[in-house]
Amino acid sequence: MSRYNIEKFLHTPSPELICCICQCVFDNAVESPCQHVFCKVCIEQWLNDHYSCPTCRARLSMQTIKNVLPLVQSIINKLAMHCDYQSNGCKQSLLLEEYDAHVQQCEFKLLQCPNAGCNVSIFQKDLSRHINEICEYREVTCIRGCNLQIPIHELNCHDCILALRHKLEKQQKIILEYGRRFQELAYRHQKMLYPITLM
Ligand SMILES: [Zn+2]
Ligand SMILES: [Zn+2]
Ligand SMILES: [Zn+2]
Ligand SMILES: [Zn+2]
Ligand SMILES: [Zn+2]
Repeated sequence: MSRYNIEKFLHTPSPELICCICQCVFDNAVESPCQHVFCKVCIEQWLNDHYSCPTCRARLSMQTIKNVLPLVQSIINKLAMHCDYQSNGCKQSLLLEEYDAHVQQCEFKLLQCPNAGCNVSIFQKDLSRHINEICEYREVTCIRGCNLQIPIHELNCHDCILALRHKLEKQQKIILEYGRRFQELAYRHQKMLYPITLM
């Protein structure tokens, strides 16, 4: 299926540019020896379980499929499209050849805030301000004594002593775990050196 749904175009595309399999504008247009044009993905899928052209039924296999003439592809490339994020406010119109790159980095794409605990979705263009200045879950250094990195919304109710104790407990667990792994390794090493005595 093509990525280029007809509704995404500023002007209704000419019917010659529409794939008969998916009813969208050709995505990577390819041509058969019987001179029918399809999206590459569409005809590939079709020929998985058919052996003939979907338009004229002539015998067909992927080996005989070729790219369309550069002229045809360049006509397709110059079609004007809306951005996928038009409903989010993106007013830009794009050439089909610019579409992929634009949609990837469109300012109006909604992204999830990466800070742990924050469930806010936010426009790409506002994300860095949100992460650095607004997010309730961004981490700041506590200046009341513990110097730990804590989410800003915990700053007022945060107990330095308790937080330090938690941190210490966590570190003790890690140290214990390392100790255990070290012993295990030492044991395996011994076993390698003296396999009989330790059996
Ligand atoms: Zn198609
Ligand atoms: Zn055909
Ligand atoms: Zn956009
Ligand atoms: Zn956030
Ligand atoms: Zn503190």
